[in-house]
Amino acid sequence: MNKIDAVSNMILQSKQIVVFTGAGISTESGISDFRSPGGIWDRFDPSQLNYQNFLASEAGREKYWQFSKSLWPTIADAKPNRGHYAIAELYHLGKLDCVITQNIDSLHQKSGVPEEKVIELHGTLKWAICLECGRRYPRQQIQSRLDSGEKVPRCDSCGGIMKPTTISFGQPMPERETHEAETRSATCDLFLVAGSSLVVYPAAHMPLVAKDNGAKLVIINLTPTPHDRDADIVIYEKTGQVLSQIVEQVKVRLI
Ligand SMILES: [Zn+2]
Repeated sequence: MNKIDAVSNMILQSKQIVVFTGAGISTESGISDFRSPGGIWDRFDPSQLNYQNFLASEAGREKYWQFSKSLWPTIADAKPNRGHYAIAELYHLGKLDCVITQNIDSLHQKSGVPEEKVIELHGTLKWAICLECGRRYPRQQIQSRLDSGEKVPRCDSCGGIMKPTTISFGQPMPERETHEAETRSATCDLFLVAGSSLVVYPAAHMPLVAKDNGAKLVIINLTPTPHDRDADIVIYEKTGQVLSQIVEQVKVRLI
């Protein structure tokens, strides 16, 4: 049996499926992996953009917002690709417990997976939040202010420091999302990784939580990951085509 059929079988036999996605699923939507050459990190120094520098000085915040300003148009315009749509199809087939993602691009929601089914471990770029009073602003609204010359946007309500609702280097992981992701990983019967190298915590940890609790583990990633030896099936490919083939098989056999 080929691997596509084998994964389709696993999906058909599973009752609680968690899909875990990373940067690899969004490269086909034109969003480059931050850690790969040619990405946005060639123009900005990630070591300067950590949470401590953001909090420490106006200059640190200005630098961060320059970065965010140049990143936003790509994210705002990005469209889901066939990998995202395949996962959304699993949802429509009643086969998806949730998506846990390291991505901040909202492409799972744009592809039709409901907001409450997406756990965003690294936050989302969709909003900016006031660190003082917690007021949220649509990120696009802040972009207009940056475009009209504002360097470091401040909260209209309280004058507090504002930051995109993404998790920066050095910023604590969001407690609710991390806890939720661990719980879902521990209770699923199939954990399917798509486009993550599984090197950053807590991503590195979730497949083991799933595996230790009896789930099957499938990894689809272009390059090897540290958990390949723990997986039941590993496919070294881009996620788009593989996921759509797998879900196509599932559909054929469900009908
Ligand atoms: Zn405020």
